[in-house]
Amino acid sequence: MNEGAPAGRRPPSTAPPVARLIEALHKLPGIGPKSAQRLTYYLLRVPEAEARALAQAIVELKEKIILCSVCQNVTEEDPCGICSDGRRDQSTICVVEEPLDTLAVERTGGYRGLYHVLHGVLSPMEGVGPDDLKLNELVARLRNGSVKEVIMATNPNLEGEATAMYVSRLLVPMGVRVTRLARGLPAGADLEYADDVTLARAIEHRQEV
Ligand SMILES: [Zn+2]
Repeated sequence: MNEGAPAGRRPPSTAPPVARLIEALHKLPGIGPKSAQRLTYYLLRVPEAEARALAQAIVELKEKIILCSVCQNVTEEDPCGICSDGRRDQSTICVVEEPLDTLAVERTGGYRGLYHVLHGVLSPMEGVGPDDLKLNELVARLRNGSVKEVIMATNPNLEGEATAMYVSRLLVPMGVRVTRLARGLPAGADLEYADDVTLARAIEHRQEV
């Protein structure tokens, strides 16, 4: 009856389409109820073309973005721009948790190797096991022997460390050197929020797992 909006959250005068958008925006990370309301009323005022462009961008995000079959990063082309760039160092793979983490590493400007996105970390508490991560895809990339080093750039927290250990046990027997970002990143922090200099230093001073 009230189109999915919890009863009592909105005044009875709010039109259902307005309430629906407030509700949808409120689900986004970092958007509280007040911000969701402000954004919705802002969108009510913008020219129709602008609002349509935003809606279209969201639709295209879901329609056109796929995972790179090599590194599992989000991309419009397969293989992605980094995997198909012959100037990148093909012997080093930086393993990250999420697509956004590749942007953090790229921002440092100092890394010229390839990436592999796990799409998560091992977390027994949340029921995430090895089969839920893109680990088989990583192992498959190492079979031809051209990769010499895998840098584990998972976040410096419990799950990130456990995942780095697990991957190291998996890959070292394959004759690959597995390294871990140096300490110095704030413990428990997200790679995504690390400043460029700290992250660049952590990559430079990486250590054997
Ligand atoms: Zn790729």
